[in-house]
Amino acid sequence: MSSIIDSEEKRSKSFKKDSSHLMKAITVEPKNPGTEKYMEIPEPELTAGSILVEAIAVGVCGTDVEIVEGKYGWAPPGQKYLVLGHESLGRVIDPGAVSGFKKGDLVVGIVRRPDPVPCPNCAVGEWDMCRNGQYTERGIKEIHGFMSERWRIEPEFAIKVDPSLGILGVLLEPATVVTKALEHIAVTGRRSFWEPQTVLVTGAGPIGLLAACFAKIYGLDVHVLDRAVWGAKPDLVRALGATYHSGSVLDIGFEPDAIVECTGVGQVISDSIKQIGANGIICLTGIGHGGASGSASVAEIAAAAVLKNNVVVGSVNANKRHWYKAAQNLARADHNWLSRLITRKESPENFKKALQRTPDDIKVIIQFSEV
Ligand SMILES: [Zn+2]
Repeated sequence: MSSIIDSEEKRSKSFKKDSSHLMKAITVEPKNPGTEKYMEIPEPELTAGSILVEAIAVGVCGTDVEIVEGKYGWAPPGQKYLVLGHESLGRVIDPGAVSGFKKGDLVVGIVRRPDPVPCPNCAVGEWDMCRNGQYTERGIKEIHGFMSERWRIEPEFAIKVDPSLGILGVLLEPATVVTKALEHIAVTGRRSFWEPQTVLVTGAGPIGLLAACFAKIYGLDVHVLDRAVWGAKPDLVRALGATYHSGSVLDIGFEPDAIVECTGVGQVISDSIKQIGANGIICLTGIGHGGASGSASVAEIAAAAVLKNNVVVGSVNANKRHWYKAAQNLARADHNWLSRLITRKESPENFKKALQRTPDDIKVIIQFSEV
């Protein structure tokens, strides 16, 4: 008798699940602070992509915090909420009809989609260089992100992750930002004879540490500067075989060939322009707010750049070439070292804790399921 009731219960539960088509997701009403929720929403529709993915983990970054604080972000047209999250990792549940993917593959979703016009750069697949700003971005601008139990992705916007990486695949999105920055430094360097040997990375957050790791893989003499005097950041830099500096860029004791700037701090940027070697290239990846440029005027900083043929180049986002290359870089990196970048894992129920930064955090992830 009890087994009949049990199976009836199971049937009714599964019927409920099938008929309701609901899943849990972390959502926010953009530009409306305090609206973040872990709530039930409809399962992703087929129009979102033919590959169905079970979420494993999603990384949290400053952009997510800004969206939750109501400073940034756009819901999909006609919808009230946006599913948060753009640093994804998932497992293919259903690869769809023809996708080149198979059940069980670890995948990460590309964040940006080309604008509909399209501008010349989006037309050739360089959506990271979009000219008209009408691009869309998952979890940020008009497309739902990846902080849901299941998500869908178009085969052309899914990147396969080396299975040996496991949970470390969640680092792929920040890795693409770094891979693009290093590529743009290399491309810019070709304007003259240039064989870079030394690179300085300012800021030892996830972007800075991944930049140091990949620059090391590329064979450069790597230096990292951060405010921290002790702790995980200096330890991680030294474990790479790179040199750690704290204090002013002006005191590092050499003139770098290239600088990857990851702080967005005015003083660090103006000091970098003064300290870089002749023909040097500074790639800005950090986004700062306000503040002064230290004691130097803009004209003085510009004069330093002119007299040494320096280039200051800004870099944001990444296109498919960078995603592909970043996946290779990540697979080549020391997996034990990479695992030390993930300093905290929170459950989706505890997502608010994941959005609060503590001084010891490098990368915090929200884990939806086991790898
Ligand atoms: Zn465009």
